Amino acid sequence: MCGYVKEERDLRMEKVRVRYAPSPTGHLHIGGARTALFNYLFAKHHGGDFIFRLEDTDIERNIEGGEASQLENLAWLGIIPDESPLNPKPEYAPYRQMERLDIYRKYTQELLDRGLAYKCFCTPEELDAEHERQVEAGVAPMYNRKCRDLTAEEVAAKEAAGIPYTIRLRVPANKTYEFDDMIRGHVSFESNDIGDWVIVKANGIPTYNYAVVIDDHTMEITHVFRGEEHLSNTPKQMMVFEMLGWKAPTYGHMTLIVNEQRKKLSKRDESIMQFVSQYKEEGYLPDAMFNFMALLGWSPEGEQEIFTKEEFSETRLSKSPSMFDKDKLTWVNNRYIKERSLEDVVALCRPFLEEAYDLSSKSEQWINDLVATYHDQLSYGKEIVSLVDLFFTDELNLDEEAKEFMKDETIPNTLKVFKAQLENLEEFTKENIQACIKATQKEAKAKGKMLYMPLRIATTGIMHGPDLASSICLLGKEKVLSRLG
Ligand code: GLU
Repeated sequence: MCGYVKEERDLRMEKVRVRYAPSPTGHLHIGGARTALFNYLFAKHHGGDFIFRLEDTDIERNIEGGEASQLENLAWLGIIPDESPLNPKPEYAPYRQMERLDIYRKYTQELLDRGLAYKCFCTPEELDAEHERQVEAGVAPMYNRKCRDLTAEEVAAKEAAGIPYTIRLRVPANKTYEFDDMIRGHVSFESNDIGDWVIVKANGIPTYNYAVVIDDHTMEITHVFRGEEHLSNTPKQMMVFEMLGWKAPTYGHMTLIVNEQRKKLSKRDESIMQFVSQYKEEGYLPDAMFNFMALLGWSPEGEQEIFTKEEFSETRLSKSPSMFDKDKLTWVNNRYIKERSLEDVVALCRPFLEEAYDLSSKSEQWINDLVATYHDQLSYGKEIVSLVDLFFTDELNLDEEAKEFMKDETIPNTLKVFKAQLENLEEFTKENIQACIKATQKEAKAKGKMLYMPLRIATTGIMHGPDLASSICLLGKEKVLSRLG
């Protein structure tokens, strides 16, 4: 058992340093964003630093601009790294694994020299065949340690013959690796369940479980929040920490994010937008997204769901899977939009309106009034387009319920009276329109629903919407009179 990992870190003595270490193989996914966000919140809560570094060793899968896109999307969320490849600290640089190969090489040599790692000349075909044999025999597949005890001469001869090799860690027998996970509590693994794993591939590039240890140590990382898929990697990493005589960080493995059917979010699941950039493009607010994502794994005190970054503490991290609840996301966004000034919300909506409609005949005041009418109900910027469609179309398409409602025999008279009222208006203002509605109530003897609903359906085509007088005012006299028949 590793004594040192159980040692409590003293947060008062040690500066907290956390990291987010994506592979630049794609854009910022909500899973990655959540990991970054918890590391960031933890660092800020403890006055520490949040480091962004890159695991770019899977060269084939790296995408053009992957690093920049990750950083840009994090910045949009308000997560600005204290250190990154773009703002490095010399004592920790470089921040991209492919620029750190010399650093890994040095430790690999040390492990080889100390007999803690060894060269393995088995071919992929041999390994595959062995794997198959073990599966058929019903045993857990594990490297058969064929090269573990080659003599120095055998190794030298194979190398001289140019046989490619990987480097494997000599996994200690009969050891328990245990640690206190910040989220899951006490976790333990048996070394006998872990085969001698590859630390350096045949192309000389280190594997994730190996390089991450060297990075975490040399960058003085104190705490690590990461996805639960890395829980079973942790004992492998602890072995390397132990062999090199280093202290492992304190880990917290975050639960899965699941969809509304409680299934693990897969990148192919199209029911949910999975990339942060998509939310940005649809006009979600970054601080609302930040709030929502923090709820994917943490619950604030009491029933409260809207909180500030300062209110976060790592004491209420959830152990059960976090459901990506789209209704909650729109609710949180709506709460943040309501708090924004009208000016901000107009700025948020304008690009979507411009793209969808011809605004050339509309005044600034009209656009402001339009957005103001929907300010309280809006969940995200792009939603404005469907909400305001009725102001831009000539044809109203009533749904069945509205059509049915309009069959009431009192309605034609109510509409006629209202139309006459409006025709007489000199100034088509919200207040005057409101007065016309009142006058119609008296003259047509229509009350409540039988007053408002016909007027709303006839003018806007829908049964529920924002303030009626405001909507009629925005539609303009000409359009309203023509809709009233
Ligand atoms: N590149 C790894 C990932 O994105 C990082 C794992 C870690 O944080 O240790 O999952």
